[in-house]
Amino acid sequence: MPSPAAPLLMRLLACSASAAVRAGAYVHEVMRSGELGIVIKGHNDLQTQADRGAQRLITANLRAAFPGLTVIGEEEEDPAAAPLGPDEIVEPLDEVLQQCHRCPEKVQNVRPEDLTVWVDPLDGTSEFADNLLDNVTVLIGVALEGQAVAGVVYQPYYRYLTDPSQAGRLVWGLDGLGIFGMGSDSHRPLPTGRVVVTTRSHDSDTVTAAVTACGPTQTLRVGGCGHKVLLLLERRAHLYIFASAGCKKWDTCAPEALLRAAGGRLTDIFGRQLRYDPGVERPNNRGVLAAMRVEDHQRCVEAMPEDVRQKLQGPKQS
Ligand code: AMP
Ligand code: MG
Ligand code: MG
Repeated sequence: MPSPAAPLLMRLLACSASAAVRAGAYVHEVMRSGELGIVIKGHNDLQTQADRGAQRLITANLRAAFPGLTVIGEEEEDPAAAPLGPDEIVEPLDEVLQQCHRCPEKVQNVRPEDLTVWVDPLDGTSEFADNLLDNVTVLIGVALEGQAVAGVVYQPYYRYLTDPSQAGRLVWGLDGLGIFGMGSDSHRPLPTGRVVVTTRSHDSDTVTAAVTACGPTQTLRVGGCGHKVLLLLERRAHLYIFASAGCKKWDTCAPEALLRAAGGRLTDIFGRQLRYDPGVERPNNRGVLAAMRVEDHQRCVEAMPEDVRQKLQGPKQS
């Protein structure tokens, strides 16, 4: 067990990291079983047994370890869900606890009631069902007083096609401390030109118009908000553009926190900060725009066409 003197936010990150890895093992189990148990939640919106079971593992572990913490998951909760078995309870990850002494001063004394945890147990479900497995991530984001400050992104099928012996990749970060788990990937130089990454399975005229306006030399269409932000962190793309209301707070909280911790930026398409207070509307009504370099982000905000801006003016501040 971590020392009780370890800051709450570090203990929460350490537990979230282990819970994400455990959830990733469960995602593998479901895929191996071949029984995905697909439920259609809405138009172009799927859920599988992996989404349901991974969320149970994460939310039950976090709630047991941190009483009083607000944990909001994407999937509807089953009030009759079985309690965690002994092989389902996780211990906080040492790799995270070892950084406790470097915890930024401004987050050393946060209380559970200051935090909201946003859980996407499986981001990229359409791609999971289509067997594009490296698009899948497990996302746990931590908001402090409504701002994304810390997060865990676990990619259970990292490099599974080229190196099947690879275990998944765990990336975690905290604003003011940095990000961990990218290895040499984050030192790659940016490609030449302007590479834009956007949705593969939720395209629309508005999404395409926004991408085109930013003048891409190449457009990568891949699944998952977590996966797309990993591509920014890996310096494989300059911009992530999604001019649509389809992404929710559980999609963006962990990715935004990682980008912020790495010096990048994730906002709505108008360049405004997203909020993650527990009562906030779930959809990111004004879309998502992210980049590692502030100048790429700003140029894209300025290039956003007027008709796209008008369509994305949601009813409330998000
Ligand atoms: P994508 O970039 O299409 O992979 O979407 C990123 C995240 O937002 C995924 O979790 C999607 O399920 C979600 N999302 C995006 N657009 C929609 C939509 N129109 N309906 C439901 N979920 C969406
Ligand atoms: Mg998602
Ligand atoms: Mg999901």
